[in-house]
Amino acid sequence: MKHHLQKTMFAELSNRKLFDRAHQFASDYLDSIFDREVYPTEKALDNLELFDEPIPRESSHPEEILEQLHKLGSPATTVTMGGRYFGFVCGSAVPIGLAAKTMATFWDQASAMYVMSPLAGKLESVVENWLLDLLGLPQKTVAGFVSGTSIANLCGLAAARYRILKNSNWDIHQQGLWGAPKIRIVTGQHAHSTVLKALSILGLGQQHIEWVPVDDQGRILSEELPVLDNNTIVILQAGNVNSGAFDDLQTICEKANKAGSWVHIDGAFGLWAAAVDQLKHLTKGMHLANSWAVDGHKTLNTPYDSGIVLCSDSEALTSALHMSASYLIESDQRDGMFHTPEMSKRSRVIELWAILKYLGTAGVDEMVLNMHLRAKQFANEIKNVKGFRVVNEIVFNQVLVQCDNDVLTDKVMTNIQELRECWVGGSHWFGKKVIRVSICSWATTESDIATSVASFANAYQMAITNISS
Ligand SMILES: *Cc1c(COP(=O)(O)O)cnc(C)c1O
Repeated sequence: MKHHLQKTMFAELSNRKLFDRAHQFASDYLDSIFDREVYPTEKALDNLELFDEPIPRESSHPEEILEQLHKLGSPATTVTMGGRYFGFVCGSAVPIGLAAKTMATFWDQASAMYVMSPLAGKLESVVENWLLDLLGLPQKTVAGFVSGTSIANLCGLAAARYRILKNSNWDIHQQGLWGAPKIRIVTGQHAHSTVLKALSILGLGQQHIEWVPVDDQGRILSEELPVLDNNTIVILQAGNVNSGAFDDLQTICEKANKAGSWVHIDGAFGLWAAAVDQLKHLTKGMHLANSWAVDGHKTLNTPYDSGIVLCSDSEALTSALHMSASYLIESDQRDGMFHTPEMSKRSRVIELWAILKYLGTAGVDEMVLNMHLRAKQFANEIKNVKGFRVVNEIVFNQVLVQCDNDVLTDKVMTNIQELRECWVGGSHWFGKKVIRVSICSWATTESDIATSVASFANAYQMAITNISS
């Protein structure tokens, strides 16, 4: 490094100007999110071209870099932080989580091993215990703090693969899958794409999946399950990504337990229902599973990226993800990397801890229940608007809306997106197009729902005027 650059960086660190500036820009952003368009304007999108440049040869001015991010970057963000972004299944951020993450940014801790960050190791143990309490999981359950449910699904299924093969005296690490005993995969026709991706990465393939038919909400028909055995992984869903529906976890887990099968539950956004008095009936029996995947960054509204794998077979999870090297210092304390695929990783547990401490069990209950109530409100109000129908049961936070035909549904959705008062995406539901409304932000108010319903109505009028003229 050139001597002068190092000197400049020392100065930047000590005079704090950059950080004050960044803080100011962040504040400006927060000021804007409740009034500005939920999706970037055409102009903001066009301006993104200004990022297209070759990597500079010389060092750039740091204040100009922040300026560029503020002027060109922030207008091209989607306002998931506000209350009217209903696309995909996303999530906002609880303020204390942002604040704690900001502090943790300055600590820049990797949470691979306890000795690398005693604080992160401690908070991982604490949050692990809290989660067992909050979600009602068996005491022996362990948690790994990963980037999201995609990886949590991968880890849970890796643990399942390890355990099933180990029971047949097959060491997956040494022997791989060549000539291994067959592992059966049983899941519903509506399993999430990331479950299929995990199965592919694990070498279990998709062609051999024994698909179980689902009902009109996407729930596995438990009476259609094949005969299970102890070489089977059963993959269930707590929260269908479209309808929000939950598989009958109790009935299926009981069958699976009897047969000695492994049950993994993909509960990316739905698992939190277990922490809500009025909704916990949805997750009844979930403690009977062997592994669970859940996001912090969706329903719990932690900042991205935050997911958790939970596994009641600690040996299977840590063995499936274990690596060792002579320089590693294993301690009696918690070494996070034995519970995750990564070695070095951001200590994302810090903001997760802060949010759970802030909300408490009563706060989680209140926040998640509000998402459910706003989804109910949306469904009730949109039903009375000419041109729309709701095609799912509102059990959690998802509402699927349809117009008379696919062309109209598409057109109306595009209009809603262009109005930018709220943002919704599309999906397919039993072969037909739907507009998917996912209420996943602590910030969504009754008036946000009313504004959004009005925008839907407006978008519909625009569409039919357009079509008939
Ligand atoms: C979002 C989602 C996933 C993937 O989670 P990421 O956090 O995006 O990796 C998996 N399953 C379901 C049901 C989801 O909704």
